[in-house]
Amino acid sequence: MPDIRPTVGSGALVLNATYEPLCVVSVRRAAILVLSAKAVCVADGEGILHSARDALPVPSVVRLTRYVRVPYRTHVGLSRRAIFARDGWRCAYCRGPAETIDHVFPRSRGGRHAWENVVAACARCNHTKGDKTPAELGWRLHSAPAAPKGAAWRVLGHRAPDPRWADWLDLREPEAA
Ligand SMILES: [Zn+2]
Repeated sequence: MPDIRPTVGSGALVLNATYEPLCVVSVRRAAILVLSAKAVCVADGEGILHSARDALPVPSVVRLTRYVRVPYRTHVGLSRRAIFARDGWRCAYCRGPAETIDHVFPRSRGGRHAWENVVAACARCNHTKGDKTPAELGWRLHSAPAAPKGAAWRVLGHRAPDPRWADWLDLREPEAA
């Protein structure tokens, strides 16, 4: 195994041979995939990794040289980070930068903590909304919240996506329900 000292806390996006996002691994693991010719680097990160024999740029995105079959996962874990990512980091009510999570139908009134009832919201809208429903305030949601679908979601919910991964994750516009 090469002696690789990656940047602390960094990760690399792994794509299938078809460019479909698969998972996020440590930079060390991604470098090993590249060094063993199991993957090719398609986007460099910052810095250089040194092994006993080689030096290679820190991989930010790697693509497997052979297609791997992955079971289709229907359930995407509900996490704060994944909600923000689904909603494009925008408030569902005013489209301003989101800082909080709002339950559309308030939890205090029996609203569920589920993809269909949570949205990203700015602090101001969240505070104004309190324990009212959007209908009671005459507010409209930008789009009906729903569980996210698609390959990109395999890598979300666990960590903030690196901006260098944007081309492969296509997260800019959350899917309308
Ligand atoms: Zn707002």
